[in-house]
Amino acid sequence: MRTTFEWGRISGIPVRVHLNWFLTAGLVIWTLVAGYYPQEYPGWESTAYWLAGAGTAMFFFSSVLLHELGHAWTAQREGVPVQSITIFILGGVAHIQHEPPTPQSEFRIVIAGPLTSLLLAVFFFGLALLPGSPALQASSTYLFRINLVLAFFNLLPGFPLDGGRILRAFLWKLLGRFETATRWATLTGLGMAALLVLSGIAFMALGNLIGGLWVVLIGGYLGMVANTARTHAELNQAAGHSRDERGALQPESVPDEFQSQMFRSASPEEPRQAGPWSSENV
Ligand SMILES: [Zn+2]
Repeated sequence: MRTTFEWGRISGIPVRVHLNWFLTAGLVIWTLVAGYYPQEYPGWESTAYWLAGAGTAMFFFSSVLLHELGHAWTAQREGVPVQSITIFILGGVAHIQHEPPTPQSEFRIVIAGPLTSLLLAVFFFGLALLPGSPALQASSTYLFRINLVLAFFNLLPGFPLDGGRILRAFLWKLLGRFETATRWATLTGLGMAALLVLSGIAFMALGNLIGGLWVVLIGGYLGMVANTARTHAELNQAAGHSRDERGALQPESVPDEFQSQMFRSASPEEPRQAGPWSSENV
């Protein structure tokens, strides 16, 4: 069964949506319609809550997509072809065809994502300050917070989050070896993943079931990706494969399916606001 479908193309990049994204979409809309808007702005008609909720959710997912496009457009400028962008249950992923050629190039591709989210946060902050309808102010405030969370959560220094990739770029520059840098960066990623899983379990024990489960899922997913990247770096190193002077990966050194690197933006905000039953934990 096909689990992803192509939503369209932006700058020639196929944008795919995984079926499991609909679960997140439903949860975000529900959170906004039944939680955020009625609590922050009581007294509206129910149609207004639905319109505001659906509209805000659309901008929320556009923000995730723009974060990934930030990575993708920078990759293209750096001469690294982009295969696709996938939006899925835990956020977005930009698949690029091969590793960036240098640590500097990796840094620029990675930082572009959080910078895009920060710019969006500034934009929505400005919009929230404008005099106008309460709905516009409410949605702008929500989107300001979401983009701030997207920027800072992704900057946490655990690979494969953007912060972990920045750490790898620094270690790569410092140590001169891509595989060694990856091994160290993925170690912080595994630590971060364990911390997230434990925090998620703690949230669940404290009664925030959906929020906690979400954090456990994000932690488990990040741990899996970090572990795969780590195994790879070890296999490459053990096999004596390395990069040439320009840093390009030698063509025979990595099997095809592992050549696509992924930039992820997990979005931990919505579970913490998942529905009125957990809103006291926000
Ligand atoms: Zn990112």
